Amino acid sequence: MSISGKNDIDWQAFATALDGIETFDTPSIVKKRSRDFFWYSPILSRELSSCFGDLVAAPASVDELARCLAVAAEWRAPVVIRGGGTGNYGQAVPMDGGLIVDMTRISRVLEIGPDTVRAEAGACIGDINAALAQHGRELPIVPSTEAIATIGGFIAGGSGGIGSIRHGMLRDGRNIQAITVLSMERQPQRHVFTGPEILAIHHAWGLNGVITDVTLGTVASPRWRNVVASFDTYRQAFEAGMALGDARALNLKLLTTVDGRIAASIAKLGELAKRRRDLAIVIVAEPDAAAVRDVLHGHGGTVEIDLDAEGIAASGLPALSEFSYNHTTLQVLKQDRTVTNLQVTFPAPLDSRPIEPLQKIFGDEVLMHHEFALLNDRLVAFDLPIVRYTDDARLREIGSIYAAHGPKLSDPHVPCVEGGSMKPDFKHLAWKKRLDPDGLLNSAKSRFWAQVRHLSADEIEALPSRRKKERG
Ligand code: FAD
Repeated sequence: MSISGKNDIDWQAFATALDGIETFDTPSIVKKRSRDFFWYSPILSRELSSCFGDLVAAPASVDELARCLAVAAEWRAPVVIRGGGTGNYGQAVPMDGGLIVDMTRISRVLEIGPDTVRAEAGACIGDINAALAQHGRELPIVPSTEAIATIGGFIAGGSGGIGSIRHGMLRDGRNIQAITVLSMERQPQRHVFTGPEILAIHHAWGLNGVITDVTLGTVASPRWRNVVASFDTYRQAFEAGMALGDARALNLKLLTTVDGRIAASIAKLGELAKRRRDLAIVIVAEPDAAAVRDVLHGHGGTVEIDLDAEGIAASGLPALSEFSYNHTTLQVLKQDRTVTNLQVTFPAPLDSRPIEPLQKIFGDEVLMHHEFALLNDRLVAFDLPIVRYTDDARLREIGSIYAAHGPKLSDPHVPCVEGGSMKPDFKHLAWKKRLDPDGLLNSAKSRFWAQVRHLSADEIEALPSRRKKERG
């Protein structure tokens, strides 16, 4: 009997065909492994909460993984690859039911070079960084979920994070140097992607190949200083962020600003939360900490926290990264399940003038939180505001109000890979046709796959960029 209700595959026989590979078919386990953090979104909660897989396989090696794919190809079973399950948009939810492949046992750090690391896709990001620390190195960019998330999940599902203020997006520079994938065929084939081709696999939500290992650039790991300053107004905090972000000589790892009303609902901030002050949160290399404090003071900030890693641990505070990116939303959701978030980019050149008019329009309905980052080597600020949800129409209207003031919305409430700005053309689907010709890998997450799957890979690749088409 199928748990998903989406197919008539005999899953017991399927598990037997996997021949010795560990599987789980207990409905409660399968259902749990069918979830990610889509529940941030009331819209995705409605759309995805009844979507489950049918069987979980946990291969212990790349050979076992290849066998899972070969059997699934032979049985024409839908497959979703799963890392830590921390994605936000339902990326790892099996909308078509089928096999969930848990990658977390394929987790070796394979090789550490002078400025690179090669690791298996199921390696926990925190473990990779722990191994690199022995060599005085670290990954340039990590998500705030590094304690649970896998490197394969980050490359397949993530875009940037802590480190993006200095090293740009994951796709930039030498951050990702090679991705090895297996194809979804009766005889899975190994392909290595390097150079611009990486972009077809990176952030493709695992729908066009199964990542087995990645080679990433690494950077020197200095002693980091954790600084939090408070301000009378959010605009002041934002302008301090602009000044710090513009000072490219500073070795920053994180630059975040948080509305005081958000800070007030983050219990982990202790006394500081009670004062409802607007905050700038900075992680900076120790030699540059004094310069950061000067800029914060110069913009009217009061330094409230100024600690090294040992000091943070002794203070009882979590790592400051837990107040950044999607963790900020999580801290608020822990107190109040009626809120959600949006993702809005304040473009370059940064301008603080829209802040106050937007605050006036939104009142307590939308509370801003910005992550400063380099996008195409220019300073931008990604706003992940906390939004008091009323209905879907109002959520979209809030996006339009932002747009009328300049900042642009990337909708985090759609479960499809083409929903954001990272897949402007059809290259990811051309590679899907080549590597997953029967469309078994996470296909429901593409808005366009059903329309193009009858074409050849070259024909799909030649389709005009959607962005050009949309511009007319
Ligand atoms: P999963 O959620 O398991 O999978 C993500 C996607 O990748 C799925 O589509 C899955 O099918 C696919 N996938 C997984 N492994 C493979 C593989 N081996 N081959 C092919 N496809 C694969 N994201 C950011 O970019 N930056 C952040 O700072 C950030 N902060 C976050 C904070 C919180 C609190 C939360 C809940 C999420 C955050 N995210 C962030 C999103 C997410 O945590 C990251 O993208 C994370 O790295 C995903 O890794 P994972 O192992 O959990 O992937």
